Order: sequence, then C-alpha cells, then structure tokens
Amino acid sequence: MADGDITYLAWNDLVGLTRVRGVPSIEMRRRMEYGLGWAVAGQALTPFEHIAPNPWGPMLEVRQTPVADTETKIDIWPDGIPLHFFLCDSMMPDGTVWDCCTRGFMKQALAALKKETGLQFMGAFEHEFLLSGGARDWCVPFSLEQVRINAEFLRDVAKALLAAKVVPETIEPEYGVLQYEVTCGPAIDAMAGDRAIITREVIREVARRLGLRASFSPKPRPEAVGNGAHLHFSFRDDAGNNAAYDVDAPNNISQVAQHFIGGVVRHMPALCALMAPSPVSYLRLGPHHWSCGYNAFGVQNREASIRVCPSPERDPIKRSRAFNLEIRVPDATASPYMVIGALVNAGLAGVREKLPLPPAVNSDPGDMSDDEREKLNIVALPSSLAEALDVLEADELVKSWLSPTLYTAYTAVKRIEAAMFTDQDADYMCKRYHDAY
Ligand code: GLU
Ligand code: MG
Repeated sequence: MADGDITYLAWNDLVGLTRVRGVPSIEMRRRMEYGLGWAVAGQALTPFEHIAPNPWGPMLEVRQTPVADTETKIDIWPDGIPLHFFLCDSMMPDGTVWDCCTRGFMKQALAALKKETGLQFMGAFEHEFLLSGGARDWCVPFSLEQVRINAEFLRDVAKALLAAKVVPETIEPEYGVLQYEVTCGPAIDAMAGDRAIITREVIREVARRLGLRASFSPKPRPEAVGNGAHLHFSFRDDAGNNAAYDVDAPNNISQVAQHFIGGVVRHMPALCALMAPSPVSYLRLGPHHWSCGYNAFGVQNREASIRVCPSPERDPIKRSRAFNLEIRVPDATASPYMVIGALVNAGLAGVREKLPLPPAVNSDPGDMSDDEREKLNIVALPSSLAEALDVLEADELVKSWLSPTLYTAYTAVKRIEAAMFTDQDADYMCKRYHDAY
C-alpha cells in the first residue's frame, strides 16, 4: 500500500449508481467495523444534479459499513493509481440495516427465500454497454474487427475482473455498433448483486484508463441498439443441487421454479418500475428488439420477459447445473440489488400461492394479433416510466415489499426523472443518461 492511496466505501443507490466516500488506505482497518457516517438525504439524489424531496431532512445518518468479501482492488497498471473499494451495508445506529438500503432490500428477500424454501439464490447478470471515445466510431457489429479495434480495452477488462476475483465467462462484441457484452459466472446470494456492481465499475475503470467511455445506459443514443442487463438465475439446495431443475418435469422446470415464474409473471408489469426504472429504459423495452415488450414466459424465446434457458450439456450433472431462468426486463439504470430483491419477492409470492406456470409462448408476442395475445393472457409492458410508476402504485403487494419510506423516496426520485425529460427530445435525454451511466 503506497502512502496516499485512498480506499473507497461504496454503495449502490436508488438510481443504481455507485456513490462513495473515501479514506486513506492506512486508516481502513479502523473503518471496517463501523464504516463512515453518511447523511441519508443523499439517497434522494437523481442521476443528475438534482435531489428529490425526501422524508429525511438534515438529521438522519447511517453508517456505510464495508462488507469484507466485496473488497475490490484493481492494481494492474504499473503507472496507475489503484482502484480500491468495498461495497457497504447502510447500518442504523442501533446496528440494524437501514430500511432504505438497497443491499438490505436484496438481503431481506434472499433471507425470506432461504427461510421459506430452504433455497439459496444463484444469479449472474449480462452486462451490455456501448464503448465510445476510441479511434473508430463505426465498425461492423458482432465482428472480429469490433473486438480487435479495442483489443487492449478488452484484455484489460479480463485482467481487471480477475484481479477483482470475478471470473468472466464471455467478453464479446454485441450486435450494436461498438456495443460489447461481458458475462460472469453465477454467484450465490448477496454476491450475485455485489458482483454485478463490481463488474460494471471495473469495466468503467478500464475504459477511463484508456481514455474511453463505457456506457451501460439502456439506450445510449436514440438510434443505438439497447443495452440490457438480463439476469440469469437458479436456486441451490442444501446438497448443492440446482433446485430450479427437475429431470422429470416438462422442460425440466422444477415445481418450485414453476411457482416462482408464476409469481414473477403475475407482478412483472409492476416490477418494471424497479427493473427498468428510467425514462430511457422505455426506449429500449419494446417488441422486436430482443429486450421484450410483452409480459410472456417462454422456453428459449428471447422476446419473452422471462424464459427458461435449457442446458446444452449431455452429462446429467452438468446439464442440471447449467439449467437456468432469465429475466430480460432489467437494465443498468436499476440497482442490481433492487432487481434481485424485487425478483425474489415476486417469485416467492408465487411459491407461497403455488401459482401455476404460465403457458410457454413459442413465438414473438409482438407478431401475434391482439386476439391471440388476449387468449394467452399476454399484456404489453408499460411504455413509459410514468406509466410503470402508476402500475407499481396499483400493485399493493409489490409496494408492500418496500418499506413505506423506501417506497416514498424511490418514487419521488423516479417521478422527477420521469418529469425531467417530458419537454426534451430523445437525443438530449439519451445523452444525459449516456453520460450518467
Ligand atoms: N440488447 C438486447 C437488450 O436490450 C439483448 C440482446 C441479447 O439477447 O443479448 O436486451
Ligand atoms: Mg446480449
């Protein structure tokens, strides 16, 4: 550790951005137990210069308390300043988790899942982003060219992720011009959310180092292909088996996974305000973009909002391990913690009510007639943030998963974001989100 190194205490807030306070690294040891105080009104910050009216005022503080196993240190450049941070839980003075801590929201859902089903959550996000600032501003999408013109960046992403103890599974071009995707293997419990945040921050850091910019905004430019943050997930039982998988069940979907999907589909429209939570999210979500525009369940179907990803493996053990479900609504303007918390609460509601698996849709719901969709109970997802917030407001059960203060603060911030761009054109809105995310 060099004199002058700074370690950051970081948290991912209601708008899915990582905010920090810093301490000299030599002081870090004494910060591990109680962290640093933070005036919670900051939880009402929009992604821009504004702060929403909030229920807290100038008094309340929480302790941003580092979680030891989230320590991330990237020191791969001989001439560079290391990036060193811990993700934090926001703790009340009495030692309980603050009811507006996004990580706490996720942990509460994961604890309920474990308590009621005995299962642990396994999850992995896919991170899509647009890389700008390089020597070229166009190349053939999905091509070898697309990776080779930014070969140094991609190599350093792999190196830096490994230094962050995150093993990337794929690092590749996507089908948008200068759009890339990084995926990592599944992580268990809270680590699934932590790892998503670490991965994004590491990618941003590598881009900064090379004078580039990686933007995870769901629609970085009006004409660009959207960036999703799909979440793959499954469940692990005490014996270490994948409890989402049942070799004897239709499409291998276990009973618990069937109920879980039933719950997610029931609440999906209201989940949008938590998983696709910015005005630009609704330039991405829509039919025929593989982002999903309708609430539908499918097997393999990339136009479904939630789908089963069957495993290509022949070996029965590997086959069971690789089997997973995927929710396609999320984007990176949502905190991964809010996404996992909302998903698990919705799925668990389905498990409690033993909801049936919805019929699997085998084609693009956007190509169906209104009648066909009605027969299959396929509804359009909200088409704006304002509409998504109204749908959330009407779903009492989803609202009840958020503490009243969290609900008030979250919707206050989101209503401001929804209102900010009503008189602006798409170029301006996309630029603001591109620059913030
Ligand atoms: N870019 C698409 C989205 O916005 C996803 C493409 C894919 O299937 O990877 O969700
Ligand atoms: Mg992709």
